[in-house]
Amino acid sequence: MNNYNSESKKAAEFIDHEEIMDTLKYAEANKADLETIRKILARAADCKGLSYREAALLLECEDREIHSEIFKLAKQIKERFYGNRIVMFAPLYLSNYCINGCKYCPYHGQNKHINRKKLTQEQIRSEVIALQDMGHKRLALEAGEHPLINPIEYILESIETIYSIKHKNGAIRRVNVNIAATTVENYKKLKDAGIGTYILFQETYNKNAYEDLHPSGPKGDYAYHTEAMDRAMEAGIDDVGCGVLFGLNLYKYDFVGILMHAKHLEDTFGCGPHTISVPRVRPADDVDPETFDNGVPDEVFKRIIAILRITVPYTGIIMSTRETEAMRGEAVKLGVSQISGGSRTSVGGYVEEEKVEDNSSQFDVSDRRTLGEVVDWLIDLGHVPSFCTACYREGRTGDRFMSLVKSGQIANICQPNALMTLKEYLEDYASEETRLKGLTLIEERLETIPNAKVKTLVKGHLKDMENGKRDFRF
Ligand code: SF4
Ligand code: SF4
Repeated sequence: MNNYNSESKKAAEFIDHEEIMDTLKYAEANKADLETIRKILARAADCKGLSYREAALLLECEDREIHSEIFKLAKQIKERFYGNRIVMFAPLYLSNYCINGCKYCPYHGQNKHINRKKLTQEQIRSEVIALQDMGHKRLALEAGEHPLINPIEYILESIETIYSIKHKNGAIRRVNVNIAATTVENYKKLKDAGIGTYILFQETYNKNAYEDLHPSGPKGDYAYHTEAMDRAMEAGIDDVGCGVLFGLNLYKYDFVGILMHAKHLEDTFGCGPHTISVPRVRPADDVDPETFDNGVPDEVFKRIIAILRITVPYTGIIMSTRETEAMRGEAVKLGVSQISGGSRTSVGGYVEEEKVEDNSSQFDVSDRRTLGEVVDWLIDLGHVPSFCTACYREGRTGDRFMSLVKSGQIANICQPNALMTLKEYLEDYASEETRLKGLTLIEERLETIPNAKVKTLVKGHLKDMENGKRDFRF
């Protein structure tokens, strides 16, 4: 029986298995109906988003011309909302102690040969200084679930340490947090600590597959995990980041699942997820991706990204260094709006790159370039690498942020902030070659700021930066 109710607080009702299966059947039955599909695409061009059913139909369609139209539209929507800026971030692993049994992650509690590490506050300081010296301003904190070794107090103290470090011109201005599902009380503490986005990946929305993949530990409770974003929002965290680990389960199922989750948050709290992440399973210690036989081919993966861009135009899409340079290059054109750069996925990896025998990393990185190389590459591709963290510092979170995006005004804010934070990066961290290329790009893009007053202000701030001033924002 179909119990679907997008506004229910129960996971089994806002992610309804039968509704997902019906959606997939509808998509399969109608995938050759090009007239309907073209109508959906025409409506999507209004940038008001699509339903999960319409998105599933676009994903099922096998027509190559339609695929090209989807890519073209995704690109247009991305440029309209976010201009051509790409926001940069880095993960910071605090601890890989974990009591869960996730079959796809080397930190699982049963893995006895991984090197377990937990950073002290002093070690966090050193990692943050290393990250600041690369030029990063925005971090995603990562920690395994271990109530005794990684209690909430440890996470809160670590956030305080990170925000307190000002090394040379460096500063971490936004700390996003990716820790296990927790209580409303703990989410309130995270909110009070000044976090940016609370990120939690669902891994898969299929309850049976989920339970099979999480045979032990608290994460095995599907409902508690799936309802975590509701508790976070109840606690006042406006910006939440969803994601699935593509490859664990049938991608079509999880694609519909994540869109249903987004709809649930929108219908219940008036604001969908701030971001959606699109990781695919990667090799790691004690994890063989071959055991997950749902791998998503590159061509399909690109369509998933493009259709997400069209379906939830107001949501940022994040891609990590799990993907190769080539895939990331495609993805930033199709809708990805945030990427990590220079990432180390081991605990303590920024101070000392991990030796192979020291295995403490969560997954193998595909894109091993430094942040400087990634920035240089983005400039060559015509994108503006952005170190902006302005919105949450200006109180533009949750529905305030969404209304700004929906009105299209965000482009007027993103572009100036991207240019000013890129300039900061170029002044403080870039190689001479990148600096010159970046300055030319800034000059060109300045002219595309529509508002004359804003343009004049930006020009003034860019000058001030040459005289040592920092941290301007709109
Ligand atoms: Fe622990 Fe998270 Fe890894 Fe699961 S995915 S084993 S919860 S660190
Ligand atoms: Fe993100 Fe807001 Fe900065 Fe744009 S202006 S990059 S949306 S923080």
